[in-house]
Amino acid sequence: MRHLLSVADLDAAEATALLDTSDRLREALLGREVRKLPTLRGRTVITMFYENSTRTRVSFEIAGKWMSADTVNVSASGSSVSKGESLRDTALTLSSMGADCVVVRHPASGSAHRLAHWVDTAGSTGGPRIGTDRAVTGTPTAIVNAGDGTHEHPTQALLDAATLRDRLGGIAGRRIGIVGDVLHSRVARSNVLLLATLGAEVVLVAPPTLLPTGVESWPCRVSHELDAELPALDAIMMLRVQSERMHGGFFPSAREYAVRFGLSEDRARLLPDHAVVLHPGPMIRGMEIAPAVADAPNAAVLAQVRNGVHVRMAVLYHLLAGAPE
Ligand code: ASP
Repeated sequence: MRHLLSVADLDAAEATALLDTSDRLREALLGREVRKLPTLRGRTVITMFYENSTRTRVSFEIAGKWMSADTVNVSASGSSVSKGESLRDTALTLSSMGADCVVVRHPASGSAHRLAHWVDTAGSTGGPRIGTDRAVTGTPTAIVNAGDGTHEHPTQALLDAATLRDRLGGIAGRRIGIVGDVLHSRVARSNVLLLATLGAEVVLVAPPTLLPTGVESWPCRVSHELDAELPALDAIMMLRVQSERMHGGFFPSAREYAVRFGLSEDRARLLPDHAVVLHPGPMIRGMEIAPAVADAPNAAVLAQVRNGVHVRMAVLYHLLAGAPE
C-alpha cells in the first residue's frame, strides 16, 4: 500500500489484513503500563487539517506516538495556509522537511488524490526537487486521506468495520443501516463501499433531499422509511447532519428531521436485541440520536473511538513499515 486515499482501493483481503493488524496491535498494547511500541521509531508523521476535527486528528497523533513515530500537527489557521499558501506548496514543503506520512483533511473532495499525485511526481518534470530527493532516500511520503469534502473518510470506515467485527463477530451477511445526511457524508460513502466489499448488506435510509445523485449505482439499497427497516438490522449507523455543508433547506426543521430520521428511544426499541448502534461523531444529541440511545449498552460510539486509534496505528504500520507477514 503506497497511500490510503479511498476504501475503493482496498479489496477484501487488504481490508481484512488492516483489521487483523489493528486487532494485533490492540492485543500487543493490552495491559501495558507504557504504551509504546518501537515499530516506527525515527519516522515522521505530519497531520495537516484544513477542517476541524477532534477524534481523527488526535487519534492519528496518538497512533503515531504509541508506535514511537515523531508526530507533528499543522492546522490551517496556525500555518502559512492562512497567508494564502496553496495546498500543493504546503504539502511539498512538509514532504521536503522529511515527512514519511502526511495525514490530510481538506474541504475539497479529491484533495487527497491531488496531493498524492503531487508528492509522487514532484521533481520528475523539472519542478521542485523534493520528489527526486525523497526518491534518493527511498522513503517517498505516503498520503492518508483523513476526510476530503463529501467524498471519503477511509479510516472512519475501517474503524467502523473493526467495531462491527468485534460486536457482531463478523461482517459478511450482516445487514447494516446507514441513516441520515448521506448527501454530505464522506463517512456514508466510505462505509457503503467497505462494508459491501466485506460482504455486508447495506441499506441507506434518508429523505430524498439528502441522497446524492447516482446513489442507485452504489452497492446498497435505498429506503426512506426508517421504522420499516429497523427490525431487520444487525447494526445502525446514524450520520451527523452536516449543516456546515448545507446551503439551502434540505428538510423543513430540525424537529421534523428528528421525528422522521432521528433514533429516539421508542424507535430504538424496534431494533433486534443484538443490534449495535454506531455514530461517527460528533453527535448532535436530541436531533440525530436520543441521549439515552447514545449511552445505552448496545451503543458502540466510544468503542468506535477506541478502535480508531488501533486502526490508525495499523494504517501507519502498513504504509511505513509494510504489511506484516
Ligand atoms: N467526523 C466525521 C467526519 O469528519 C463525521 C462528521 O463530521 O460528521 O466526516
